[in-house]
Amino acid sequence: MLERFVQAIELKEVDRVPVACPLQTGIVDLMKETGAYWPEAHKNSEKMAELALSAFKLGNLESVRVPYENCVEVEALGCVLGNWKIDEQPRVEKHAISTSKEYEKLRMPDPSKDGRMPVVIKAVRILKERVGDEVPIFAAVSSPFEMLARLMDYTQLLREVFTGVEEMHSLLEFATELETMYAQHLVDAGATAITLVNGSSSNLGPKFYGEYSMKYEKELIENLDAYTIIHICGDTSLILDQMAQTGADGLSIDSHVPVSKAKEIVGKRSAIIGNVSTTNLWKGSPDEIIAEAKRCINDGVDILAPACGFPPRTPLENMKSLKRALV
Ligand SMILES: [Zn+2]
Repeated sequence: MLERFVQAIELKEVDRVPVACPLQTGIVDLMKETGAYWPEAHKNSEKMAELALSAFKLGNLESVRVPYENCVEVEALGCVLGNWKIDEQPRVEKHAISTSKEYEKLRMPDPSKDGRMPVVIKAVRILKERVGDEVPIFAAVSSPFEMLARLMDYTQLLREVFTGVEEMHSLLEFATELETMYAQHLVDAGATAITLVNGSSSNLGPKFYGEYSMKYEKELIENLDAYTIIHICGDTSLILDQMAQTGADGLSIDSHVPVSKAKEIVGKRSAIIGNVSTTNLWKGSPDEIIAEAKRCINDGVDILAPACGFPPRTPLENMKSLKRALV
C-alpha cells in the first residue's frame, strides 16, 4: 500500500491507482465506531491517532491523516479558537494580530512544546508505530499564506496584498520558518508526506499568488525531506502551473478543475490528486460516488481522493465507496 503510493506520487507505473486522502478524514460515523470524538480528537494524541486509523481500517482509505483542522499553528501564536463541535472544525474567534505591521509582536513557538503542535507530532509517532511500514502517513501544515489568513482578518489580509504592505513579507518569512520547523518535526515523527493546506489563495490570481503564496510554499517544500502535497481550495486552473513550479510532488485539486485539464497543465511535474466532489461524498449515493471516482480514474488521476477534506457528516458507506470504484 505504501509502495503503491510511493510509485504513484513519483509518477511511476502502478498496478492500479491508490485511494489516499491527504486532507481531513474525521467523520462522525467513524467517531461513533472508535469513541474518538471531536473536539477531544483535536486535543488528545491517542484519540487523534485512533480516529485517523479508523479511516484506513473501516473507511477503506489506503492512508492515514492528521490533524483534522488548520488552526494548530495559529493557536500556538495566540489566536483564540472557538466552535469546538462534533461535526464542525474549530475556527479563529480572536485573531493574534490586526495587521502584518504587528508581526514583531509574535514570538516563535517551539513545535515540540507549544500549543497542540506536540499533540499532532505524538499522534504521527503513534501512527508510525502502528501502521508506518504499510500505510502512507499524511500530516498537514498550513501554507504560509494560509497562516496569515488565520492570524488576521481575511479582508484585511487581502487589502494588504492588493495595496502592497511591505511588512507582509517579513510575516511570511516568519510563517515559513515556523512551518518548516513544525513540518520537519512531523517528518521526524514518521510522516510520509506533508500536505500544505491552503484555503485562501485561489482568488489571488497568478501575480499575487506568485508573490505572496507560491514563493513561500516553494521555499518550504525545498527545505523538507519528505513527499509534499499542496492543496488549494477552489478553482485553481489559473495558478496550477505555478503550483507545479513549487516542486510539490503532488497537487491536490478541488472539484472545480477537471482532472484532464489539470493533467494537461501540470504534465509530468507533479502527481494529480483528487477530486471527487465533497458535496457528493456528503449527500450523494454510493453509486454516484463510484461513478464520479471512475471518471477521475479515466481522466488520468494519479491518486484518487476527495476534492477537499471529508465533510464530517459524510456517511461511512460513502467514504468506503471510493475504493469500490477501483475493483
Ligand atoms: Zn479544499
